[in-house]
Amino acid sequence: MSDLKSALQRLGIAADHRAIWIGGESKIGSGATLIGRSPIDGSTLSTFTAASTADVSRVLSSSREAFQIWRDIPAPARGEFVRRVGNRFRELKSELATVISWEAGKITQEALGEVQEVIDICDFAVGLSRQLYGLTIATERPGHRLAEQWHPLGPIGVITAFNFPMAVWAWNAALAWVCGDPVIWKPSEKTPLCAIACQAVVASVMKEMPNEIPPGISSVLIGTGSDVGEALSAAPELPLISATGSTRMGQAVAQRVAARLGRSLLELGGNNGMIVTPSADLELTIRAIVFSAVGTCGQRCTTLRRLIVHESLADEVVRRTKSIFERLPIGDPRQTGTLIGPLIDEAAFRAMQHALQQAQSEGGIVHGGARITEGVPAGGFYVRPALVEFSQPSPSIVREETFAPILYVLRYRELAEAIAMHNDVPQGLASSIMTTDVREAELFCSAAGSDCGIVNVNVGPSGAEIGGAFGGEKATGGGRESGSDSWKAYMRRTTNTINYSRDLPLAQGIRFEV
Ligand code: NAD
Repeated sequence: MSDLKSALQRLGIAADHRAIWIGGESKIGSGATLIGRSPIDGSTLSTFTAASTADVSRVLSSSREAFQIWRDIPAPARGEFVRRVGNRFRELKSELATVISWEAGKITQEALGEVQEVIDICDFAVGLSRQLYGLTIATERPGHRLAEQWHPLGPIGVITAFNFPMAVWAWNAALAWVCGDPVIWKPSEKTPLCAIACQAVVASVMKEMPNEIPPGISSVLIGTGSDVGEALSAAPELPLISATGSTRMGQAVAQRVAARLGRSLLELGGNNGMIVTPSADLELTIRAIVFSAVGTCGQRCTTLRRLIVHESLADEVVRRTKSIFERLPIGDPRQTGTLIGPLIDEAAFRAMQHALQQAQSEGGIVHGGARITEGVPAGGFYVRPALVEFSQPSPSIVREETFAPILYVLRYRELAEAIAMHNDVPQGLASSIMTTDVREAELFCSAAGSDCGIVNVNVGPSGAEIGGAFGGEKATGGGRESGSDSWKAYMRRTTNTINYSRDLPLAQGIRFEV
């Protein structure tokens, strides 16, 4: 664990962990003890006295105060702060990746990729800080101007999942900051050190810009969903709650936020599919299947879970995928050459075994999926990815997201049938089609094709870039984060009618003489 200790030291994180952070100031919480364990070997990484509901109000008021100052700072100047945050992430990339590997179990390549995603969204947000455009609209009245302005919204509550312990916060924070909003972050209780590490980076940039940045624009509360998460969702001081996690969590958050007529931005579970048509380039297809199905040990919201293969290719695709699954290097995620690290914890392992049993009881033929204990660190939950073949079209287990490396294989005859099978799940996050036939590709991307938020051709469903809007439909929650015009969620729009004439013509030609 010496690599983690020196990474934390380089990041300036003290050994006594504090649960409440406002800028560089920290405090212990008034909640229960929270112990953070590593999925690598089950070792204890952190002990926090967690924040509780009682601690939320102080953070809310400092965010409100910060908002009064931050909203008046010009957006490009807010962008300068984000530019420096991104640069600091560049400098500390390897230390931050080490913290991700220890807490979330990601292999080094993927952990570095996650920090890169933080850097990329900071760069994107810096550019955006000069592009928060409103429209000017043709008006029906002479001597008038009709235009839109975008203003900061207010402090934003950000609730995140364990599997992207830095990137998802950054998607929200970098955009919220340039838009003029403070951020209060409640990270997953499974990855608190990642959050403290990000906060330390942000605080070090604040120190470089004394008197320019109100510390309350960046706060962290380490606590559980049932107290801190619920308290944030219910807080009228937060006009927007951005929540990433399971669909069950999203339903709870959405109801609380809706009860006070707040806005929620939901990024929830996926159940992502890939259709492989007879014209597919098989070399490319097999590589796309393997990365999407087993990367991050099947713990990505965009993980490929359902492979819908034309019956003419199914045997070959299954044979080749199975044979790769059987020899994938699984083990300590920090070791060079490892492609699959551990599941996050024992509960994830049990959920995986439970899903495999159900699949079997529904007629599935299960290959792989067992726990590995040889050649891996003791105390972690390492598994061989599972491939499950079904001959019937719609077993019920296939409709559920199990957050583990299980790939269900279904067969089809006609493309229309494949698209119907593809869309016949509650979730709607990511999807893909492997084909060299332009008609099939375009049909899949059309209104009659995939019903997901992410629709790919000849690329697996996982591994999005930050430049596009990220999110999904149906039980995935409908939110969009990251690139494109996602920034609009973090601002409020005003429509301005400006009369520079000496008359007062009314819209729709209404006459009202007084
Ligand atoms: P989770 O739902 O268990 O927890 C996510 C976060 O919600 C945590 O911070 C947790 O403390 C909090 N939370 C839990 N209950 C809450 C409540 N009632 N009120 C407020 N907050 C509450 O999810 P997880 O196990 O950490 O992550 C895995 C899930 O996240 C998967 O379903 C995955 O698909 C999803 N996910 C989605 C995306 C996306 O962008 N669509 C990205 C990453 C992960």
